[in-house]
Amino acid sequence: MYEHLFITPRSVLYNIEPIGTGSEFVESLTSYLARVAFEHNTSVGHLVNKLLIPSMDKDYLHRSRDFGGNRFYEGAKTINGYMENSLSVVKAIEKLTVRDDIHKLTLIRWKNVFPLRELLKKSLAWCPFCIKEWKENNKTVYYPLIWSIDLVHMCHIHSCFLINKCPTCFKQQDILRRQSLVGICQHCLRQLDDGATKEKYGQENKDWQGFVIDNVCSLLNYDGKINTGENSLLVKNLNLICEKVFDGSINEFSKQLNFARSSVVGWIKGKVKPTLENQLYICQRLNIEIEQLLLTTNIQNFHIVKQRKRIINTSSKPKRVDYYIVEKELEKVIQNKENISMEAAAKKVGINKRTLYRKFRHLCVQISNHYKQYLEERKLQRILCLKIQVEATFTNLYMQGIYPSRRKIEFVMNKPGVLKERELQSHWKGLLGKQGLLFERNLGECEDIGDEFQ
Ligand SMILES: [Zn+2]
Ligand SMILES: [Zn+2]
Repeated sequence: MYEHLFITPRSVLYNIEPIGTGSEFVESLTSYLARVAFEHNTSVGHLVNKLLIPSMDKDYLHRSRDFGGNRFYEGAKTINGYMENSLSVVKAIEKLTVRDDIHKLTLIRWKNVFPLRELLKKSLAWCPFCIKEWKENNKTVYYPLIWSIDLVHMCHIHSCFLINKCPTCFKQQDILRRQSLVGICQHCLRQLDDGATKEKYGQENKDWQGFVIDNVCSLLNYDGKINTGENSLLVKNLNLICEKVFDGSINEFSKQLNFARSSVVGWIKGKVKPTLENQLYICQRLNIEIEQLLLTTNIQNFHIVKQRKRIINTSSKPKRVDYYIVEKELEKVIQNKENISMEAAAKKVGINKRTLYRKFRHLCVQISNHYKQYLEERKLQRILCLKIQVEATFTNLYMQGIYPSRRKIEFVMNKPGVLKERELQSHWKGLLGKQGLLFERNLGECEDIGDEFQ
């Protein structure tokens, strides 16, 4: 009965408007996908399998979908970026919604301006207070693109940390999943703003984060073209800075700003681009804005600002405590399966153990459990080793016709008291039993003598 029903391309998906386009509050593409699925009463998984992948014309995605694979979601970490996967999702969604502004929900305009390395977060981060406010004011809940930028750790509206673990089950959230719902935990299905507490930044963190966010916002607001390549304004301006501030000395440039010389050479020649973090750091040290570095032909009034300790890449006791970094370091301890106690882990990250338990309980428990297990395994290994030594010594003495008493064995092994350990003692008694020696002689008497018994 539906044979003659004709569906025009316009009706494939509702033409849902993305939030905040053209502003720093612009929505991210992954947030938009989750909202579109929700508005159609379906899941992200269904939307991706039935509509998106067929429109994307990518063989590997078809195959992955047909075999229940995860290729689309593995690539979802970078969908808000500018690589091929972002471009093809943008194209497909623009076709399905008949909109032409979906590319604005990604960093496609930043292609060739910043390397993708360390540009995007690997899991979701959000401001629970923004979400709470939107809900209270009956506004649509969404994830702004700015939250997905790795350097951004703070909500500039609420001056608090973005969080990246569900306040109820403490689990991280993937950027996109088959069952993603905006504002809801992917694991326990509780609200992501439930019971979150406000953790304020210290002043020093605030200065750097304030600078990062101001500049990232101005880039998100900027609508014009950014020229790239070897002759870009960025390369010209880096050369100008080298000339005017460091008297043309690349050595001085790298020394004063704490960069590797080879990196600076690559940047100046236009062979490689500094990461977003490094570009911002250069700007902060020279007292200029990122727009001046990327978009102006004649930077004025730049001068080097007194050195500040950078919060990124500091491994021990950062003065400005950046809990994002602390969290990453704790996660590294877990990933690398390091056999260290929580005490040692706390020393390593330079933060008090109690504070760590309060902030990252879930990670601390994992580290502590791993260490307990490691100690347990090491203990078993030691006992096994000693059992083998006891048995070898026992046999040796027995073969020489010497009674293998406790003291004699300990003496030969050069380990006084070792057979007092319950497990080793029962092993030794078992060996005596096997040889029929257990009741033949008075053990108390023989123990001290340990001489021939035949
Ligand atoms: Zn907020
Ligand atoms: Zn949860």
